[in-house]
Amino acid sequence: MTKLIITIDGPAASGKSTVAKLLAEKLQAGFLDTGAMYRAVTLAAMQQKVSMASTAELLDVLKKTRFEFVAANGQMTVSINGIDAAEEIRRKEVTENVKYIASKPELREKLVEMQRAIANDCEKIVTEGRDQGTVAFPKADMKFFLTAKPAERAKRRYAELIARAGGQSEEIKLDQIQKAIEQRDRNDKNRAAGPLKPARNAKKIDTTGLSIEQVVQKLFDCVENKNKPKSKPKKMRWFRFARGLCNIFCNLFFRISVYGRENVPKTGAVLLVSNHQSYLDPILCGIPIQRPTHFLARDTLFTNPFLGRLISSVNTMPVKRGQSDLAAMKMVISKLKQEQMVCLFPEATRSIDGKISQFKPGFGLLCRRGKAAVVPVAIDGAFEAWPRHKKIFSIGKKISISYGKAITAEDVKNMDNKQLADDLTQTLRRMQNDSRAKHGKQPYEY
Ligand code: C5P
Repeated sequence: MTKLIITIDGPAASGKSTVAKLLAEKLQAGFLDTGAMYRAVTLAAMQQKVSMASTAELLDVLKKTRFEFVAANGQMTVSINGIDAAEEIRRKEVTENVKYIASKPELREKLVEMQRAIANDCEKIVTEGRDQGTVAFPKADMKFFLTAKPAERAKRRYAELIARAGGQSEEIKLDQIQKAIEQRDRNDKNRAAGPLKPARNAKKIDTTGLSIEQVVQKLFDCVENKNKPKSKPKKMRWFRFARGLCNIFCNLFFRISVYGRENVPKTGAVLLVSNHQSYLDPILCGIPIQRPTHFLARDTLFTNPFLGRLISSVNTMPVKRGQSDLAAMKMVISKLKQEQMVCLFPEATRSIDGKISQFKPGFGLLCRRGKAAVVPVAIDGAFEAWPRHKKIFSIGKKISISYGKAITAEDVKNMDNKQLADDLTQTLRRMQNDSRAKHGKQPYEY
């Protein structure tokens, strides 16, 4: 069963054979040069001296001759009745006669059938020709159409023929090669069956002025990008959009001050550890920083399908309250192992008076397992804006968000859970009182 089909179509000497071969090697995929198949049938017809005009005779050649096309990793072998024909099919006379085979729909149909059978035997295949993306594999995973200016293609073919002849030769003339290439383009484009044209969804690449390596890399990058999960950038865009909306909301209704934003590492696993004053806190912790943040929220919020979907879409994971929720812990650890940022409120519930209560020590395990740096986040003023006994928030309140110096993952490793929880409780209380002082408020007494 084929899992990946990549088609590369294009005119003669656009570089597709070399590129397809190298791409197949890079992807450890089979390589199918379908031009070689048309050439092999042409050569067999010439050897058997049948009339090139007779479809019936040519079909008979196809039926009675044993063609073997093997598409191995980056290599393709061609043999006619057990005799290797890889070199002979490249002869000038074969090139001149191939148009008779290529223009007959009945023959094309048979060859396309063979191409599909070959592809079916490969797990991955890179196949090149003129009609691979349009006719042979319309549902291919990735389609390319290579082009290059005729003059450049003629130069490439000239260099190839000179190299094959072992040096300069009177018979190899650049202008004649260009004319022949242009004629083949016309034949290939104008035939009724399987004409040379880009598939609607093919990526067109002009190879003029590009080296083979550059083209291969371009194609390889396209394949790699295509195989990356699509949902991520989409989700990321939505997350950024939602964060933008929350930013507007907070700055519209409250007077927000942010301190120490630079203390949040830009990469790597980070656990934001914050005090909890109100429903606004996850938003307040997340909006000032560029990195996406993951949150936990009590599982009962996810029972409402609309709310559940909404909060999941902004990176919120469910957690069971009042018990140690193993599944939630695993999710947090896995996010941290992916070098992401998670925000936790170790008090577990919103403050009753705005003060910070002693942190529960359980989160130390998450830091160590996730090898995360810990950034203390002190929130102040959110309690005045939306205390837990009020149904709706009050507008115009001053809210401060302070990010403290990070405790590195290495330092966390050397602290036990209780020590880490005690240290962070003290640090956050100090940070909270510092920002209260900045805003002319009475410090909390601890
Ligand atoms: O690619 P190459 O130049 O070896 O192909 C030889 C000829 O075979 C082309 O000029 C074209 O007429 C024909 N061909 C085709 N359809 C394909 C591959 C090749 O008609 N898929």
